[in-house]
Amino acid sequence: MLEILEDLKLDDEGNYIINKNTGEIKGNDWKQKKEQNILLVESYQRLGMENRAKKTKNCGSYLEFTKYKNGQKKLTQAYFCKDRLCGMCNWRKSNKMRGQLTQIIEEIKERDPKLKYLFLTLTIKNCSGDDLGKTITKLIEGQRKLLKYKKVNNNLVGTFRALEITVAKDGKYHPHLHLLLAVEPSYFYRKGKNYIAQKEWSLLWQKALKVDYIPVVDIKRAKGNNGVVEVAKYTVKATDYINANNKALTDERVIVLSKALKGRRLLSYTGIFKEIKKELMLVDIEDKDVDLIGAGENKQEDEGIKEVYVWYLGFNPICNKKEFNYYKRKT
Ligand SMILES: [Zn+2]
Repeated sequence: MLEILEDLKLDDEGNYIINKNTGEIKGNDWKQKKEQNILLVESYQRLGMENRAKKTKNCGSYLEFTKYKNGQKKLTQAYFCKDRLCGMCNWRKSNKMRGQLTQIIEEIKERDPKLKYLFLTLTIKNCSGDDLGKTITKLIEGQRKLLKYKKVNNNLVGTFRALEITVAKDGKYHPHLHLLLAVEPSYFYRKGKNYIAQKEWSLLWQKALKVDYIPVVDIKRAKGNNGVVEVAKYTVKATDYINANNKALTDERVIVLSKALKGRRLLSYTGIFKEIKKELMLVDIEDKDVDLIGAGENKQEDEGIKEVYVWYLGFNPICNKKEFNYYKRKT
């Protein structure tokens, strides 16, 4: 009988551990992501995007984990395609981004423990697929302008920004920006005219965006690591555009998102975030050479035991039928 890859999740240090408790786990992440990846490959093939299909096809098909004496299990060898619409890669990227941001913030806290953090979400009216590209441009230009306003800029020490595009229930696109702002504590001195209340943020955003409606803005204090988790989302969620039951819709959205994201930088770091990212020599997540295998770089004391899982058609003893899954390769 073949052994199936068990549910895996990241621990606090970014290592893969076997989840023995049920409850907080979302399910078999690897299998789910690989299934999404295959549906994407099929869409690329239908759309005649052969090169992209070829590159994306083997993403995550081979996974080599190493089990160490201390009980940790880490992914140590794999191929990831890094395609911008690949759900497998975007899952890896957001894990990596979360790890990096946590590192950056810990370093900022060491150097300047007085700094405070804000979590800011900037939105714009939902748009059609045809308008997605120019709506994103407008959103990013507006954001640059907003951060230059004197009242915003006065207390600002640095920012991290991630673009996210979701698909609304009516099929329209909802591009928006998640920002983590590091501000001087003086931002909260209400009497000192530094503090910007929710309403004022909305008005400033309306002005920067140059629109005739009041756009939705969400601003809140980011405490602990909550801010990091909320902001470290990777641009697109495969569940928004991969629909196993609707190939036409999948293809349409794949085209729209591919066009809108082409050549665009999706993440941005300024001020103290940028400086510390550079000092810690953190790799660029959008770089084509980024390593999506390891999340943390902590060394292990022993060589460990290798476990290899491959994606292929086999007999799944859990559902008692033949299916594609990750099966353990016999050593
Ligand atoms: Zn991939």
